[in-house]
Amino acid sequence: MCCSCGACVAYCNAQGFDIIKMEGYTPQIRSDAKVEDCKECGVCYYICPQTEPLMKQLNDDYRIKDEMGYIQDIIAAKTTDEKIKEMGQDGGLVTTLLMYLFDKNKIDAVIVSEYDDKFQTIPKIIFDKEELLKSSGTRYSISSNILPLKDLYNIADDIVEKHPQIYDINQIRMAFVGTPCQCRAVRKMQLLNIRPTHVIKYVFGLFCMENFDHDKLFQLVKKETNEEPTNIAKMNIKKNFFITSKENKVYEIELKKFDDAVRNHCHECDEFTSRFADISFGGSGAVQQNSMVLIRTDKGQDLIRDVIIAGYIKKFTPKKSTITEWKAKKINLLRNMTNKKINKSK
Ligand SMILES: Cc1cc2nc3c(=O)[nH]c(=O)nc-3n(C[C@H](O)[C@H](O)[C@H](O)COP(=O)(O)OP(=O)(O)OC[C@H]3O[C@@H](n4cnc5c(N)ncnc54)[C@H](O)[C@@H]3O)c2cc1C
Repeated sequence: MCCSCGACVAYCNAQGFDIIKMEGYTPQIRSDAKVEDCKECGVCYYICPQTEPLMKQLNDDYRIKDEMGYIQDIIAAKTTDEKIKEMGQDGGLVTTLLMYLFDKNKIDAVIVSEYDDKFQTIPKIIFDKEELLKSSGTRYSISSNILPLKDLYNIADDIVEKHPQIYDINQIRMAFVGTPCQCRAVRKMQLLNIRPTHVIKYVFGLFCMENFDHDKLFQLVKKETNEEPTNIAKMNIKKNFFITSKENKVYEIELKKFDDAVRNHCHECDEFTSRFADISFGGSGAVQQNSMVLIRTDKGQDLIRDVIIAGYIKKFTPKKSTITEWKAKKINLLRNMTNKKINKSK
């Protein structure tokens, strides 16, 4: 059931309890001696996105009545930035919105995922917009994006010196990017008003049908394409798995060939479109090089309005149908995909 979001460890460490740590993709008690030190507060269980507690209140708070969650508006859009267009997964919207938030001094940092030099997916807090491009694109393996918050109170001195506005750690304004399960955990923590998620001001959720075990995925990629992981330029799921090598060779492989690499917890998940985000982003349903965008909160609505006005993104205008018909059609498509996910998990 564990989705490796890192919420429990981030909470436990940021409180100074430090009883659990992440070992690979699973939280573990640090040592037998530490068992005695556990305060038995139970918060790690409550905030786990895979447990039932708090869900009723959370659903009420986020006006969630069905599998799609509350939708204030739906649009498709793409970035106007040429570099992000090249690097982004779909419309490059997530990276562009983060760029805007940095530019307008609305955030001091964001938690994203990156590849490290060994091509492992890693979560990272970044404080500079220049680093954003490295994080754009989708990595189809676990990135424990809440985990870096465990070190919120130990931010390196050189970073604090470079960004004096974050001197008071509790005043840092962060954005968060994550999969549906991760956004759920962030909201559970915010509901309890506990450290360290109090610094998160924007929650950007990704659509997610399923996620994969990194090693198993790349073994299968190698088997199907004969390409080394380090020679993969881009991976994208659009009905089938599309894998592009650095030489621009594109492989299209049936998605079910990767079934053995799907993480177990995804079989239990009924969220496709990140119901708890301020804004949710996916490729499904959007024309090429655009992202599908579900706006869920007033904060999300204001941000999308502002980035359009500022010219950072361009909204898609349907030609063959009215806007109302287009929106209904897209919501229906996403509902069908959500039901497909729910049926898979039964
Ligand atoms: C595991 C996974 C499965 C997905 N499945 C679908 C799907 O079935 N259908 C669909 O429409 N969309 C899916 N998406 C979302 C889609 O791939 C894009 O992330 C989304 O359309 C946003 O694209 P963009 O160009 O706007 O984002 P970009 O500007 O490219 O930014 C992408 C952001 O996603 C973050 N990110 C990348 N990988 C991860 C990760 N593993 N965990 C957490 N954050 C990450 C990056 O840090 C970056 O901030 C999936 C995403 C993931 C991570």
